[in-house]
Amino acid sequence: MGEWRGAKRSSPKRSRPFANVGATSPVKLTLPQPFQFSGDHLMIELPGARALFTTRRGGVSRGPYTSLNLGFKTADSRDAVAANRAALESDLDLRLAYVRQVHGNRVIAAPVDGREAPEPPQADGQATATRGVGVAVLAADCLPVAVASEGAVAMLHAGWRGLVGGVLEQGVRAVRELGGRGPLHGAIGPGAGPCCYQVGEEVHAAFADRWPQARRGDNLDLKAIARAQLVEVGVAEVHDVAMCTICSDPGLFFSHRRHRGVTGRQAGVAWLS
Ligand SMILES: [Zn+2]
Repeated sequence: MGEWRGAKRSSPKRSRPFANVGATSPVKLTLPQPFQFSGDHLMIELPGARALFTTRRGGVSRGPYTSLNLGFKTADSRDAVAANRAALESDLDLRLAYVRQVHGNRVIAAPVDGREAPEPPQADGQATATRGVGVAVLAADCLPVAVASEGAVAMLHAGWRGLVGGVLEQGVRAVRELGGRGPLHGAIGPGAGPCCYQVGEEVHAAFADRWPQARRGDNLDLKAIARAQLVEVGVAEVHDVAMCTICSDPGLFFSHRRHRGVTGRQAGVAWLS
């Protein structure tokens, strides 16, 4: 089991002058295997690929965006978000590709040079078969979900609307279309947990027929739905980090619910290893 080691980075590749900005008191945590800590973030090794789920630690943003806010679509300083993205890209030694997320089900192939277009494409997931490109999505309660096989990998943004729309199935299709071979593996990152994710009857109704087991009183278990959907479309093994963004230590994750909309965004990133 990995152990949280405060703001220390396990293998700093270069000096990070702002690595401790925004750090809170050290928290002791263990992660379900095979997740492990990678510096301030959560990492999982999948066959042929890796996925990283960032925490809010280690960036330069201030106030409600403290500190590793990666979302431009917030009221945070654009310069701070750009610096945070550049630091993550440098730390991972990848070219990170982002999309403009709309709670839909479109999954695209990331540009092979990984560079963000002036206006990023509208999609809720990306796949790549190019080494050195990291496909990224942003979230602050929605689930970041990685799907990997030998030769291709996807990162998907899945809130309840995306799950209804089949964004995970589209992610699997994209991995196969890019030539991903062999068994598929999935990883569900930090997001709204069944402990906290209270939804209205109209949302429950969208899942009641096919996933009645996901209802927990007034709450909905998004992660159970994601897992069931991944298995249905042929993902052989699904790992869940089992961390709730709403009720975890507030120093760890941005949460749209907890912070009533005024908060940053963490990322899920996946790449070929
Ligand atoms: Zn919770």
